Amino acid sequence: MNNGRTAGQINADAIETFRTSLRGDLLEPQDDGYDSARLIWNGMFDKRPALIARCDGTADVIEAVNFAREQGLLTAVRSGGHNSAGSGSCDDGLLIDLSGMNGVHVNPTTRRARVQGGATWGDFDREAQVHGLATPGGLISATGVGGLTLAGGLGWLRGKYGLSLDNLISVDIVNADGVLRTASESENSELFWGVRGGGGNLGVVTSFEFAVHPIGPTIMFLAPLYRAEDGAKVMRGWRDFMASAPDEIGGSMIEFSTIPEDPEFPEETWGSKIMALAGVWAGPADEGEQALQPLRELAEPLLDFSGQMSYCEVQSIYDAMFPKGVHRAYFKSLYLNGFDDQIIDEIAPRATDRPSDLTLCSVWFMQGAVSRVPGDATAFGNRDMGWMLSIDSIWEDAADDEKNIGWSRAFWGDMKHYSDGRAYLNFAGLGEEGEELVRTSYGAANYDRLVELKTQYDPSNLFQLNQNIKPRI
Ligand SMILES: Cc1cc2nc3c(=O)[nH]c(=O)nc-3n(C[C@H](O)[C@H](O)[C@H](O)COP(=O)(O)OP(=O)(O)OC[C@H]3O[C@@H](n4cnc5c(N)ncnc54)[C@H](O)[C@@H]3O)c2cc1C
Repeated sequence: MNNGRTAGQINADAIETFRTSLRGDLLEPQDDGYDSARLIWNGMFDKRPALIARCDGTADVIEAVNFAREQGLLTAVRSGGHNSAGSGSCDDGLLIDLSGMNGVHVNPTTRRARVQGGATWGDFDREAQVHGLATPGGLISATGVGGLTLAGGLGWLRGKYGLSLDNLISVDIVNADGVLRTASESENSELFWGVRGGGGNLGVVTSFEFAVHPIGPTIMFLAPLYRAEDGAKVMRGWRDFMASAPDEIGGSMIEFSTIPEDPEFPEETWGSKIMALAGVWAGPADEGEQALQPLRELAEPLLDFSGQMSYCEVQSIYDAMFPKGVHRAYFKSLYLNGFDDQIIDEIAPRATDRPSDLTLCSVWFMQGAVSRVPGDATAFGNRDMGWMLSIDSIWEDAADDEKNIGWSRAFWGDMKHYSDGRAYLNFAGLGEEGEELVRTSYGAANYDRLVELKTQYDPSNLFQLNQNIKPRI
């Protein structure tokens, strides 16, 4: 079993040999660039790895994995650094930094895209949109393709094209033995099953191959901002609309927030508590403009930012709200058994009355293409959830940690009786429930199958800084 040895216990010669084996840089705390290289998104974590291997290709990843395994080092893997539990870094151990591996190549004829393991969704969308193509990605352009896809992938296009991982055709992955394998439906198919949901448990993905679909370049974006006091009424209207809505709007969501003091918004609205309804029409923009009109009239909006815009603009529209390393955050989710009036009436006041104005509370529609994939087709698990509550607590001051985390946990705990306890593992708090939440979320059968894969491909649990699946001893 990997005992999480620290790099301070390794002899300097071994470190120098490792350094010369890499094409990319190996950074130590005294080196220029160390502090920017160790920065991750959640400002609550100030982790200081002893070594940062800035990988410059698959060969570097193989060297790093072999070094980590041979030395028994605590090892973190990072692409976009957006994991809110801070799993994309570690103290004292080795950080395998993939962020320099961000190449994207799109083949418009085969409608496939090759994406290196450290690319962000901004990197991906920019290249894919050259051809008017896209695949479901995240809502923020700086989020990594890696972490988001390996544990699911919820974006605006999910109603039409499913989770990000549903669009995977193959991956190249370096497993804990340092061997590079290709996994697809026809090659290492069980490993491919596990990669689609198993997070970073099974190895380091150096390259993703995705199916891409025609989208844009101009699409219709839905963004009426309703007053929070109209939240329950608007949620009911949205729920009823979605009951017969086509997949094109199946990536929609509602989100409680507070209008910031930002010149983007009229000054008289600053500080207003709102509930935004957001989504895209995954089809022709004019058709979308007509089809989405009823969702802009569910109450009188305070503001309405809906309109036709470029797909890349939509994919980065919320970026400014999520600066890297600035805020403290605790993100926790729960799949809901339904979205009836009682649930709505419980969510509305609690989501309005948040301890921090930076905090967002949202409900994501999880039907359409997402729900049509059988639960055992990928490791991700059952797709029968229908709706997801996401409590995204964000605040500024360390002195407020307890207040904000405590509030999120209490809200989450009280909503559990509207759920079978499963969470989206990319929004799983700080992982404090450990194996229990992970097992529940995958479902027992998928979890047991993942344990077998973990035992085969990572028997020493080298990749343990994630929603960890422990190998059989
Ligand atoms: C501001 C913000 C917005 C978000 N928006 C969305 C959203 O719209 N939709 C959504 O579904 N999720 C969203 N998330 C959640 C996001 O999917 C997870 O936080 C995810 O872990 C981020 O991936 P990353 O590569 O950026 O993170 P990292 O911190 O770099 O990586 C997280 C973990 O993923 C694994 N990993 C990453 N890359 C690789 C790789 N190439 N090979 C093997 N393992 C790897 C590692 O285990 C690592 O610990 C958001 C998070 C934040 C903070």
